Amino acid sequence: ASTRHVPAVVVGSGYGAAVAALRLGEAGVRTLVLEMGQRWDRPGPDGKVFCGMLDPDQRSTWFKDRTEAPINGVMFLDLANRPIRRHAGVLDRVNFPNMGVYVGRGVGGGSLVNGGMAVVPDRDYFARRFPTVDADEMYRRFFPLANRMLRVNRIPDDFFEASEHYRFARLSRTLAGRAGFDTTFVPNVYSFEHMAAEERGEAPKSALATEVIYGNNHGKFTLDQGYLAEAERTGHVTIAPLHQVTRVQRTATGYALTVREITPDGAPVAEKHVTCDHLFLGAGSLGSTELLLRARENGDLPDLSAEVGEGWGPNGNVMIARANHLWHPTGARQSAIPVLAINDPERQVFAEIAPVPAGIETYLSLYLAITRGEERGRFVYDRAADKAVLQWREGQSAEAVAAARGTFDRINEANGTGYRYDVFRGAKAFADDFCYHPLGGAVLGKATDDHGRVKGYPNLYVTDGALVPGSLGVNPFVTITALAERNLATILAEDIHP
Ligand code: FAD
Repeated sequence: ASTRHVPAVVVGSGYGAAVAALRLGEAGVRTLVLEMGQRWDRPGPDGKVFCGMLDPDQRSTWFKDRTEAPINGVMFLDLANRPIRRHAGVLDRVNFPNMGVYVGRGVGGGSLVNGGMAVVPDRDYFARRFPTVDADEMYRRFFPLANRMLRVNRIPDDFFEASEHYRFARLSRTLAGRAGFDTTFVPNVYSFEHMAAEERGEAPKSALATEVIYGNNHGKFTLDQGYLAEAERTGHVTIAPLHQVTRVQRTATGYALTVREITPDGAPVAEKHVTCDHLFLGAGSLGSTELLLRARENGDLPDLSAEVGEGWGPNGNVMIARANHLWHPTGARQSAIPVLAINDPERQVFAEIAPVPAGIETYLSLYLAITRGEERGRFVYDRAADKAVLQWREGQSAEAVAAARGTFDRINEANGTGYRYDVFRGAKAFADDFCYHPLGGAVLGKATDDHGRVKGYPNLYVTDGALVPGSLGVNPFVTITALAERNLATILAEDIHP
């Protein structure tokens, strides 16, 4: 097979990868982006690029026989999951013992499937998690840059207060207030101008048509429209979808990659070989860690640090299901984009009020709590399966659940309400067995230097959520983006165009 050489390769196309691709392209470095998922720009037979959340088809899920939505059902009705055809769908759930990790698959990574919540972390907590990063520079320069590039906006007050689609959030605010908790608005990359036009019937509906985890057909500013489109416009960046990197080896002057190309239905197309001078791993916490761990354990990159695989956390994610009184309906119509969060400073819980876009009144309130804590898991290499396996013990979620329970017990006491056991798998009110925010595995300053340069291997970089040490206290993509911007600025100046 022929081997192609490019100056720079970026693996993956999520936040960290997209930043790397744009900044390399702007610097005139010819760059190839290898993304295992599809490019989501062609409508299916129904005229839509993405399928809906309530009627999912093969576009929803990455090579499974049945969808694996986080919510099992409502009132024990299986509203959420369907048998489907195996296909390169946009959302994956990677199942490890005690922890299912949701990730986006496609050109744009997690930006395609996520809720768009764009939150800058609390500065003190950020400084504690990243003691070697200049927080002043991050908050002055790189967080504002990330917010601008990602087109973060806020819901106008009058729209929030008047919209029937946010009745669920206003109710949760009232109930939290009775327990003494404040709420804060959460910025988003979903255009609230578009959402208001949806409500007036002047724009095609997406958030107001229950679209989110399987992709938004309108309204959300995803990386393929932002960073990655700009990267391609430099003329120096090429994106290859349905190309999965399976192996990284050292050459005399750089790196050699083995790449598996597939069709959207999973048939092998080709095994390709690419060499490069500079290699940026942006395959996410799971993807980048697996490539490094495999290389260390199979002898391809034997000098990788023992820190590779360490320091993983689910960002303290816990989902909670609460029951409301029958005189407190949440609304049959709910926007799929969350905009409000409950703060519990005492327990350090930041609980986002999540919609239940079921299309019927459910009297259910859902929350995604982001808790803080020091519990960490680690990845080990399973040689027989050639995979990285996350080790996360059941008891490691107890700290996060206890914090969230403290907050929501108080809300229930203040309102005479209770929990719901019909929503999550295993008849639990606190879902601690899955997460949306995988973080760590190649932590900044441990597996890499302070700018994501992989220890022991020059011109090899980690640029994504694998750098973040397990916990941030808020949703991670603004931080991943800002950190990648910071690291790339130094790498371009010092390593690429010194
Ligand atoms: P990712 O965005 O995960 O991108 C990695 C990419 O690499 C993927 O496209 C993947 O297909 C590709 N890849 C992996 N391995 C390989 C390989 N070997 N070869 C080629 N390509 C590969 N965060 C927020 O801040 N706010 C939210 O509201 C929010 N909501 C979320 C909702 C859901 C349902 C999910 C799943 C996540 C949510 N997140 C949210 C989390 C956020 O999306 C992630 O933190 C973020 O996408 C991580 O960015 P990343 O750059 O680390 O990698």
